[in-house]
Amino acid sequence: MNARLPLRDPNAPVGAIARASAESPDLKVSFEFFPPKNQKMEDKLWASIEKLAPLSPDFVSVTYGAGGSTRERTHRTVARMVEETSFAPAAHLTCVDATREEIDQVAREYWDAGVRHIVALRGDPSDGIGEAYTPHPDGYAYADDLTEGLKKIADFEVSVSAYPEQHPESANWSVEIDNLKRKIDAGATRAITQFFFSPDVFWRFQDRVLDAGIDIPIVPGLMLQPNFNGLARMSKMCGVSVPDWYAGLFDGLDKDPVTRDMLTATLAAELTAELRDRGSDHFHLYTLNRAEIASSVSRILGLHTRGKAAAVS
Ligand SMILES: Cc1cc2nc3c(=O)[nH]c(=O)nc-3n(C[C@H](O)[C@H](O)[C@H](O)COP(=O)(O)OP(=O)(O)OC[C@H]3O[C@@H](n4cnc5c(N)ncnc54)[C@H](O)[C@@H]3O)c2cc1C
Repeated sequence: MNARLPLRDPNAPVGAIARASAESPDLKVSFEFFPPKNQKMEDKLWASIEKLAPLSPDFVSVTYGAGGSTRERTHRTVARMVEETSFAPAAHLTCVDATREEIDQVAREYWDAGVRHIVALRGDPSDGIGEAYTPHPDGYAYADDLTEGLKKIADFEVSVSAYPEQHPESANWSVEIDNLKRKIDAGATRAITQFFFSPDVFWRFQDRVLDAGIDIPIVPGLMLQPNFNGLARMSKMCGVSVPDWYAGLFDGLDKDPVTRDMLTATLAAELTAELRDRGSDHFHLYTLNRAEIASSVSRILGLHTRGKAAAVS
């Protein structure tokens, strides 16, 4: 039998849009980019930045290649952001294969260029993700040491990593959480998570963090990689589990990039909606230097209607 259900205002937003617009004056996004390798990639990055600028991200960050391989490119990209945009850029910095003096020098150059926010990481080994990591004998060994070193150089805002499914090298949860605590004790004021696909993975982690008395913001990192095969490979290397239901949605789409893009945007927006239900109000989007998916997700979050648009001169 058909029962009459209560009607809603026909102008009320639906689904993820409704959840984003509910009581969220502080809703934020940040965008992560990687430094371009050549002119073509550079043009693509700056075209993306121009499209994403009106969404007024809380900050944007630029990664640092394994073993410091992108040191100059990361610096150039971040310095150009300071000069040509109204973004607040954060530079990623890692400990791998460098002495303390070298890293301190990079940090001082950032400060002098007007960069006030560093994402401090141990870093992927230069031989690749999953290979053995050996600290440089004269270097910062782990992200907590680096955070402490950075705070001695200048009053940087420092963000660090967090792993909702544990970092693959942590023997157990107590090791994992102790490491996060050390990074906070050293001066980190925000943790950005490794990507994940199920909100429950994040919530379980959030509970562990709360149980440990950690009270800095833990910002969920959302991966916007529509190439499912690449995503599956990267997830395996990083110890991230891909649920069967997620994988199943990409089945048979190897030759259909448009549908993959649409699915990726939809799934990321759905994930933000679920995470909103338990209070997340900042989402860090791994953009892969593309604007369309990050822009769709941010628009569903209502970011296009908030604040003053950032300018790219
Ligand atoms: C948001 C985000 C951004 C990232 N950006 C980059 C990037 O730009 N460039 C890049 O190369 N990689 C990047 N990565 C990947 C990251 O570098 C790797 O995951 C790396 O393996 C760990 O770095 P971390 O800062 O998380 O390490 P840490 O927090 O230092 O910890 C790494 C592991 O070492 C263990 N550990 C910590 N201290 C000690 C100790 N004293 N003795 C023994 N073990 C210890 C920890 O328990 C943990 O298992 C990023 C990751 C995230 C989540």
